Amino acid sequence: MIYSEEVLQKTLNLGKKYLHEGAVADYIPELAKVDANKIAISVIENDELHSVGDSKVKFSIQSVVKVILYSIAMDNYSVDELKKYVGVKPSAKAFNSVIELELSDKSIPVNPFINAGAIVIVAILYNIYKGETFDIILKKARAFLGDDVDYSREIAESEKESSFTNRTLIYLMLSRGIIPNDIQVEEVLDTYFKACSILVNTENLAHMSYVLSNNGKNLKGEEIITERESRILRSLMATCGTYDYSGDFAIRVGLPAKSGVGGGIVTASNKNTGLAVYSPRLDSHGNSYCGVRMLEFLSKELNLYIY
Ligand code: GLU
Repeated sequence: MIYSEEVLQKTLNLGKKYLHEGAVADYIPELAKVDANKIAISVIENDELHSVGDSKVKFSIQSVVKVILYSIAMDNYSVDELKKYVGVKPSAKAFNSVIELELSDKSIPVNPFINAGAIVIVAILYNIYKGETFDIILKKARAFLGDDVDYSREIAESEKESSFTNRTLIYLMLSRGIIPNDIQVEEVLDTYFKACSILVNTENLAHMSYVLSNNGKNLKGEEIITERESRILRSLMATCGTYDYSGDFAIRVGLPAKSGVGGGIVTASNKNTGLAVYSPRLDSHGNSYCGVRMLEFLSKELNLYIY
């Protein structure tokens, strides 16, 4: 067993030293209300879940859900088909950058893990599933994360009320024909906000990490996504998962990962283990400040690098 109680505790203590660094996301008012001092690590090893810290505390999944959204898109279309609407290139600007969208080739979002890209994916899903789109997303989210997950109505509403930048992104894509202009804009945005508002804890994210790391199968051996989908998602997480910090993250942590502005980070490896961290204060890229430091420490201690 590599993730001993001692090493997890040591990592958590190291993380706690950085608790005052960074800032919680406050551009979504409801997110500013979280307790900024929460911190947790959950791992799955030898089919068992181990946690230290506040691993029962729920927070919104935010961008981590974009991995799940893209997996549903891949159930319906090939990556090449999807590339007509969203690319697979790393982003060079912030997760909600308007200028990056404006400057990208034909205004196609560079990847599905930034806001513009995920909004296009939701529009594609909405075209297929219409009014049932969020139910399909929640069902898939439960398969990755655990049967008990639900979304926060308060956070979804708060996102809707403060969604000026996301509205700019969707209207820019409508004007450029990336999203067909007969789409129900409000429905697509509401679905995206609800998806970002799904509540999880690090235990849920460790299960998701396990599925991604175990070629698509959960702890019970059930296939949640195909092996090919899991490989594609890991590749995208490696290149795009921590926004414009992905290159640094690859060097410092050495694992594919996806972060969200709620403060969670889910990792993936090529072993059948799971690893996720949480702490809500973010660095200037939108990644959990303590979370990145804890992962960096763990990788060094346990030689988790896969590159
Ligand atoms: N719901 C957030 C937004 O639309 C997601 C951002 C993130 O986690 O990167 O801004």
